[in-house]
Amino acid sequence: MDQTHVKNSIVQSPETRRRIILFPLPFQGHSNPMFQLANILHTQGFNITIIHTQFNSPNHSTYPHFHFRSINDQFSEVDHLRSTNRDPSFYVKYLNRSCEDPFRNCLIDLLDEEPVACLISDAMFYFTQGIADDLKLVRMVLRTSSLGCAIGYGAVPFSKEGRFNLTKQDPGYEASVPEYPLIKGKDMLKIAVNPEGYGDLVANMLKQMKASSGLIWNTIKELEEPELETINQDFQVPSFTLGPFHKHFPAPSSSSIKQDRDILSWLDTQPPKSVIYTSFGSVARITDLEFQEVAYGLANTSSPFLWVVRPGMVLGFEWIESLSEKFMESVGDRGRIVKWCPQQEVLAHPATGCFWTHNGWNSTLESICEGVPMICSPCFVDQPIIARYAGDVWKIGILLEDGFERVGIAKAIERIMMDKDGEEMRKRVIRLKEKVNLSLDEGGSSNESLKSLVAYISSL
Ligand code: UDP
Repeated sequence: MDQTHVKNSIVQSPETRRRIILFPLPFQGHSNPMFQLANILHTQGFNITIIHTQFNSPNHSTYPHFHFRSINDQFSEVDHLRSTNRDPSFYVKYLNRSCEDPFRNCLIDLLDEEPVACLISDAMFYFTQGIADDLKLVRMVLRTSSLGCAIGYGAVPFSKEGRFNLTKQDPGYEASVPEYPLIKGKDMLKIAVNPEGYGDLVANMLKQMKASSGLIWNTIKELEEPELETINQDFQVPSFTLGPFHKHFPAPSSSSIKQDRDILSWLDTQPPKSVIYTSFGSVARITDLEFQEVAYGLANTSSPFLWVVRPGMVLGFEWIESLSEKFMESVGDRGRIVKWCPQQEVLAHPATGCFWTHNGWNSTLESICEGVPMICSPCFVDQPIIARYAGDVWKIGILLEDGFERVGIAKAIERIMMDKDGEEMRKRVIRLKEKVNLSLDEGGSSNESLKSLVAYISSL
């Protein structure tokens, strides 16, 4: 974390401290940035209370400077379905219903105790806007994905018949989507396994973002300048782009899986920019067929690799037991498989040459922040949109158009690690990294946006 920037200096005196209540969605890609934001606001002089669900409860002792309130989410009633039902909108919508009463009661108790400047909830907890309105509390929103994704979500025709059951033979499969030409027909199939359910969730989220008092984004103006202009026109509430949060103030990973830190000393033994780092985040699951393609895609190259396989990531298996001995022998010490790793440190390590990622927004930002080009294998929800940005807009990654398929994988690895093309992508991502660093400096856009956010909350 030696490159961390802690360069913001407006700290309020204790007399002016005020409380902010934050309510993260209990999935790592959402709760990590919320805790990072909480740390940033705490360093700016605010008192922090986190309301959290019992499901994926954070470890309170990691944050002795915060207050915590836990609410009963009843998530255990549906959690057991997760190995068979892969529709994320089902779980998020469930939480929006089951948390409503306990959240309201908890908020009433907290407001009785002391004045509160505002509530900051995850955008996907859209039910909180109505409660905040009832209790006359200002609600701001943290949206943990990109600005581009919010625009895409507004444009994707979730309710259009026939758009989500295309097959490879259909002309629309490879064609751009007319309502949102950045993506192709086949991307839509990945965005939503249940288009009606997901479209509904997205519509509620966007509506309540518009009804909020302000939007906080973990992005950087210079990365998404045209998108910021569009959002400012469409949403008409102030937007604060103060990312990347983890470079202001890192927060420990909230994963319950222990990080394998020994891997850093293995990386120390590898040549500069030689290692393919592979991870598909904290939620995505793949079939064993896909898993074998990833394995042989990696095995069939000459590059060393570090591969994160979360327990339970391969459907129907505990961990990596479906990998053959032949595979293990052929790879030897050239490849390492771990359950979880300190990703930001791995990306910052000089040995890391590229990131084969699912393009979760946090992973994408972390890769940009370390100047690491990507191979893109989006799995679902916002990832296909972010992957198109990485591949087609910023041109800092190669999208595996045909999914997990070993020949395409080997070609992409070769292109990014050896070809001139890959070298160009590396140069572009390094230029973006430099822009990100400047944005965090005094006078930079993210630094200024943080100051505006602090002033805005203080004025409420
Ligand atoms: N991560 C990590 N160790 C790993 C893999 C991932 O710490 O081995 C972190 C990663 O740094 C990122 C988060 O998990 O901050 C994943 O968030 P992202 O938005 O990329 O994807 P999601 O998990 O939401 O699909």
